[in-house]
Amino acid sequence: MGETATGMRFDTKLIHGGTAPGPYGATKTPIIQSSAFAYDTAEELEDLFKGRAIGQVYTRIGNPTLEALEKRLAAVEDGIAAIVTASGMAAITTAVMAIVRSGDEILSSASLFGGTYSLFRDTLANYGITTRFVDPTDLDALAAAVNDATRLIFVETIGNPKMDVPDIAAFAAIAQKSGVPLMVDATVSTPYLARVKELGADIVVHSTSKFINGTANSIGGAIIDSGSFDWNSAKFPHFEPFYRKYRNFAFTARTRKLIHKDFGACAAPLNAFLVGEGLETLALRMERHCANALKLAGFLAAHEKVAWVNYPGLPDSPFFEVANRQFQGRFGGVLTLGLADKPSAFRLINGLKLAKNLANIGDTKTLVIHPASTICADYSLEVKALMGVSEELVRVSVGIEDARDIVADFARALDNL
Ligand SMILES: *Cc1c(COP(=O)(O)O)cnc(C)c1O
Repeated sequence: MGETATGMRFDTKLIHGGTAPGPYGATKTPIIQSSAFAYDTAEELEDLFKGRAIGQVYTRIGNPTLEALEKRLAAVEDGIAAIVTASGMAAITTAVMAIVRSGDEILSSASLFGGTYSLFRDTLANYGITTRFVDPTDLDALAAAVNDATRLIFVETIGNPKMDVPDIAAFAAIAQKSGVPLMVDATVSTPYLARVKELGADIVVHSTSKFINGTANSIGGAIIDSGSFDWNSAKFPHFEPFYRKYRNFAFTARTRKLIHKDFGACAAPLNAFLVGEGLETLALRMERHCANALKLAGFLAAHEKVAWVNYPGLPDSPFFEVANRQFQGRFGGVLTLGLADKPSAFRLINGLKLAKNLANIGDTKTLVIHPASTICADYSLEVKALMGVSEELVRVSVGIEDARDIVADFARALDNL
């Protein structure tokens, strides 16, 4: 399968890319639910630990089921290697900590998933790592914020929950000029909307818990190394031994052999298997998520009780042009809408019958949440404003049900406001 991988189109790659035949002709990756792997001789295990041989040792460090998913995700994102992790936050923490050290700075888009924002602003700050937040649509501010301590630029392809769409290629140009890697969280766009490596992402991170898994049956994350960043740099002396030995695999080697091994946020084999199942249908599901979201956004935008709708696929969205170009006419499955006030937002959520009220996106089911009182409840008004989270805002992750039923659910709930 490896030989043909280069010629595969994207939808085919989701199913066949990076795969290998299983034992007994199995067409599925076996779930190797084993913590450790035995060898006949002490010499063999010594060779493995000394890096003279390649093989499985202990599931925190590697496991055949995890490796199978890593090869598939690397193929899908056109990366040179991937590491799967226990969660999306584990992927972000592990990948970022592999790059930055105490005294370094991260330059990040201010429009972030809540967990990432709190990691950067609070948790990493306690370890001497400072994050400067900039409006991702203000490229001049971004370029001006780079300084001698900057070691990483971080951005989300579609801000969650702000729904803003930064110009990733422009971010990449600034990162390249500054000699620092660009890390892109592509969870909301998924590889279906864009292979962000082509736009210049050096490292891609995903919460596979969302659209990639697609049926909300397990939490997971992934780090994909584009192999594009030159780690042979005075800014990254800590990569020097890894660069010498592994060349453009230096990031993956340092992350896997040091940070991922030490932090220990490894994925469970069963969860990796489930993510792989989801990956096979990503294109089909995303096509429907995008189509349904566009239909629901159009319906909501025309409804008299809806104050505003934020969806990059609406022609009057300020992000339509960049999203249209970057994602080739597809805009994802998440939107936000504004009602008159918080009580109206709560009444809408309470009035929906089909849509589930919960903290997740990317399920087959339509999901809603009131971010200001839940996932963003801990943030000050100022931070909420920065993230675009207002009291009247409801976030919708549009599912793959029949669009007519989704629209009818919202129509009924809005009529009853
Ligand atoms: C959910 C999410 C994460 C965190 O992923 P978990 O799997 O929940 O840890 C990170 N980034 C984005 C954009 C997300 O939506």
